[in-house]
Amino acid sequence: MSRPFNFSAGPAAIPEEVLQQAANEMLNWGNSGMGVMEMSHRGKEFISIYEAAEADLRELLAVPANFKILFMQGGGLAENAIVPLNLSKGGTADFVVTGSWSQKSFKEAAKYAHNHLAASGEASSYTSIPDAASWQLSSDAQYVHICSNETIHGVEYQELPDLKALGCDAPLVIDFSSNVASRPLDWSRVGLAFGGAQKNIGPAGLTIVIVREDLLGHALDICPSAFNYKTVADNNSMFNTPPTWGIYMAGLTFQWLKRQREGELTGVAAMEARNKAKADFFYDYLDHSQLYVNKVDKACRSRMNIPFFLRDESRNEAFLAAAKERGLLQLKGHKSVGGMRASIYNAMPMEGVRALVDFMQDFERTSA
Ligand code: PMP
Repeated sequence: MSRPFNFSAGPAAIPEEVLQQAANEMLNWGNSGMGVMEMSHRGKEFISIYEAAEADLRELLAVPANFKILFMQGGGLAENAIVPLNLSKGGTADFVVTGSWSQKSFKEAAKYAHNHLAASGEASSYTSIPDAASWQLSSDAQYVHICSNETIHGVEYQELPDLKALGCDAPLVIDFSSNVASRPLDWSRVGLAFGGAQKNIGPAGLTIVIVREDLLGHALDICPSAFNYKTVADNNSMFNTPPTWGIYMAGLTFQWLKRQREGELTGVAAMEARNKAKADFFYDYLDHSQLYVNKVDKACRSRMNIPFFLRDESRNEAFLAAAKERGLLQLKGHKSVGGMRASIYNAMPMEGVRALVDFMQDFERTSA
């Protein structure tokens, strides 16, 4: 039986091969007689799963040796507090607000840092990203926060800002919850990246933090020990019990990613080519349609989350019902912006995007 295509923004579709392997290993992992959920996180079986996941992620994202990879819990929203607790030193933190998620980060950090709004996309209703050359960066910023892909508004940085070129020595912090592993990442521009796993990597409950070593060890005294990056790093993410199932599933996804090929390309580079082809195909269809519209500036359209609207909004419910009938699930837009949203993460094949466009063409014809 073929499964429907799932366009959820997260928790989101997981590659079928990964789900199948997890199902096969559910009761008995590697002849251990145990399922992964039943293993001690300190036993040799789980340690081997953890070490492979860490090494595969490092390879896939080309993470340099002077960065630590941490497997934590709490999701992106907890990181909105954990980052300032670890990095702000109680001083200034700069924010570029480009949508709901960076807006939330900005609000939460104000509890622990002196926040400064360096730039905002609000005037464009978050349909564009202010040009980095216009950002008002603080001379004493301890870090600069951006969200590399705004899951709700569908805006994505096509290139990370080069803070040094802007005369700023502060580390760049990125929330990459919704575009991690969808494209290569230039670590020379990044101090810390964080994201929940539940979009491109696996199940909810695992948070990935990748942090440059020199940023460790400066946490405020009030920082909970389990959220102190240095403590977590010194204990190989095992200061407290890590999200073992999430790490295992992420590990299977990393192996799947490593197997992906597009021509000469492999891994994340192959995913980038595929993601670009999927997004270009879908945006091109939207831009030529009479019924559907995407309002995001072409220079910063997300390859992962594509919000779109029916010009006749009275057709919304009929659209969603007919889509579901055709095996196209979870297309309803976020309640704060309305309309529709197609999330087309790594696990969504081109075939799924084609099926969506075929359906949308048929729906447009019958609505005319
Ligand atoms: N940041 C981004 C970009 C997100 O998309 C989300 C979740 N949709 C979050 C943060 C919050 O993640 P969580 O719910 O796991 O805390």
